[in-house]
Amino acid sequence: MNAPTIGVLALQGDVREHRRMLAGLGATTVEVRRPADLSCVDGLVIPGGESTAISVLLGTSGLLPPLRARLAAGMPTLGTCAGMILLAGEVVDGRPDQERLAAVDITVRRNAFGRQVDSFETDLDVRGIEGPPLHAVFIRAPLVERVGHEVEVLAEVPGRDGVRRPVVCRQGPVLVAAFHPELSGDARLHRRFLGLVGGAEAANAAASASREEP
Ligand code: GLN
Repeated sequence: MNAPTIGVLALQGDVREHRRMLAGLGATTVEVRRPADLSCVDGLVIPGGESTAISVLLGTSGLLPPLRARLAAGMPTLGTCAGMILLAGEVVDGRPDQERLAAVDITVRRNAFGRQVDSFETDLDVRGIEGPPLHAVFIRAPLVERVGHEVEVLAEVPGRDGVRRPVVCRQGPVLVAAFHPELSGDARLHRRFLGLVGGAEAANAAASASREEP
């Protein structure tokens, strides 16, 4: 497969760090700010930042309709922290007018770890990621309170009540994480995402080959 082109939504948040990680894995990266930027990407990263701010900027930039269309067509997407909130179907403690892209059938609670422990780091076992636990940096992170039938839970941590709740989930080609994988220097979650991009390309090629058959 040729190097995929990965867009990083560049309205707000950790854009540079994601681009560096992806480039280190051999991907071509572009910043996505306007609708036209989306047309050439094989996959998209929605970075952490502030989901309410990114939501407003998605509206003013005109990106919302083409982004919804690409997600509906199965574009592989990685959402981290605020990106996870934006991709969720339901948000608890969000702003009422906050956009929900609803690409993953989960309910997330914003700022779920509270003010005292609003940031922490931990080592996570992530299903499907080989080797030692992944070091994960959580910053005013969300937690997943409900997952739909089509959602695969890949990692969990205990919430404020001690109950383990999902922090990495996948639904089809969409991968979401409650933490900041771009900040730990460990590229394995990004590599897993590029695996989803490769899988989608292979599936598209097979579908168009079968369409071309007489
Ligand atoms: N709490 C932020 C929000 O609601 C997310 C924090 C982050 O992305 N680090 O969007």
